[in-house]
Amino acid sequence: MRKQVTIIGSGIVGAVTAYYLSADPTLTVTMYDDGIGQATKNAAGIISPWLSKRRNQRWYRLAKAGAALYPQIVADTQLGVSVYQQCGTIVTRRTAADVEALYQLAQERRQAAPQIGTITKLSAQAVQDRIPLLTTADPGIFISGGARVDGERFAHHLLKYAEKRNLVRHKGKVRLGDQGQLLTPNGQQQYDTLILAVGAWLKPLLLPMKLVADVRPQKGQLIEFDLPQSWSDDVPVLMPEGERDFIPFTRSKLVVGATHENDQGYDLQVSSLVEKDLFASASQLDRDLQYSQISRVKVGTRAYTRDFAPFFGPLPDNPHILVASGLGSSGLTTGPMIGKLLADYVQTGQQTDWDQYQLPIETYLQPGD
Ligand SMILES: Cc1cc2nc3c(=O)[nH]c(=O)nc-3n(C[C@H](O)[C@H](O)[C@H](O)COP(=O)(O)OP(=O)(O)OC[C@H]3O[C@@H](n4cnc5c(N)ncnc54)[C@H](O)[C@@H]3O)c2cc1C
Repeated sequence: MRKQVTIIGSGIVGAVTAYYLSADPTLTVTMYDDGIGQATKNAAGIISPWLSKRRNQRWYRLAKAGAALYPQIVADTQLGVSVYQQCGTIVTRRTAADVEALYQLAQERRQAAPQIGTITKLSAQAVQDRIPLLTTADPGIFISGGARVDGERFAHHLLKYAEKRNLVRHKGKVRLGDQGQLLTPNGQQQYDTLILAVGAWLKPLLLPMKLVADVRPQKGQLIEFDLPQSWSDDVPVLMPEGERDFIPFTRSKLVVGATHENDQGYDLQVSSLVEKDLFASASQLDRDLQYSQISRVKVGTRAYTRDFAPFFGPLPDNPHILVASGLGSSGLTTGPMIGKLLADYVQTGQQTDWDQYQLPIETYLQPGD
């Protein structure tokens, strides 16, 4: 008899887990998702963790491993450049001294992360030459390993791939009973393994089991432009100082964002003030942009933990229920590795080397009343 694996959540973690599990003919995989507020489909899409200022080495190992998985998944599933493209990243700084420091850091980090690729110092003019949309720029460095991904289309692609093998998907919100019973819109469902890849919604989902997850919601908004001109597929992503990035996707789509709003709970309303503020940031880089060219404002809910680190694996007292959450603002980068590790665990029961990627899961899950 085939084993029943049920995944809740079709974001990057759920989709990658389903993709890896689809190679196993001994499993039946079922997925539920209510499709509300998903971070993955509203994300900016930068995959470039190597120059991060974060000091958390476990996060860094996970992010490096996640970034390295993309080219492999892309090749194995024949994904096109409009969804994922290793177009390189340009990181700019206002002063020559800061550019030099960044350049040295990149050289140092490349020793343990050859995926950074080639590293080139760029003058302000050279930055503009590489990203023709810019009407002004600071100097910076280019790293060829950086990439951009359309999270929504990437997850969709993997789910379609898995559906051709062993995945069955349902739309709808699920709840858990006090013993971990799975309560779906179609009634209670049995499972051998249940994977809660529910992002920012893990805390409310686990409460009936008297477990408190250290997960908080963070609202993120970004703007998308549909521009009259088009550019080549390999125009790099720009990460200027500050938190507003500039991401030219293929053809005429430009994404600028994103916000990190910690005090908005699960709110998904577009804020016109934020939209204007994002537009102001975008126009500082490209004076020719017009407000009317904004084609979409996206809003998603990220999950973050007290130390901004993700966590994943079986519940401390229940090896049949796995969780993954807290991926924060870099979850498109860490998510593929987390999905792969969860799928490995389902198949082998092993947590080989997991402590190199995260603190013990008890750090983020406490007994509640
Ligand atoms: C604006 C923005 C910009 C970002 N930019 C980047 C970036 O450039 N680079 C990067 O690496 N990361 C980025 N991120 C972060 C990244 O998108 C997230 O960390 C990652 O997508 C989280 O994936 P996930 O699978 O854990 O959760 P999600 O993608 O949120 O998926 C969880 C799913 O579970 C479903 N769900 C929850 N509860 C239930 C339930 N009870 N029943 C049924 N379904 C349920 C939800 O509806 C959702 O679809 C960004 C995020 C945002 C919001």
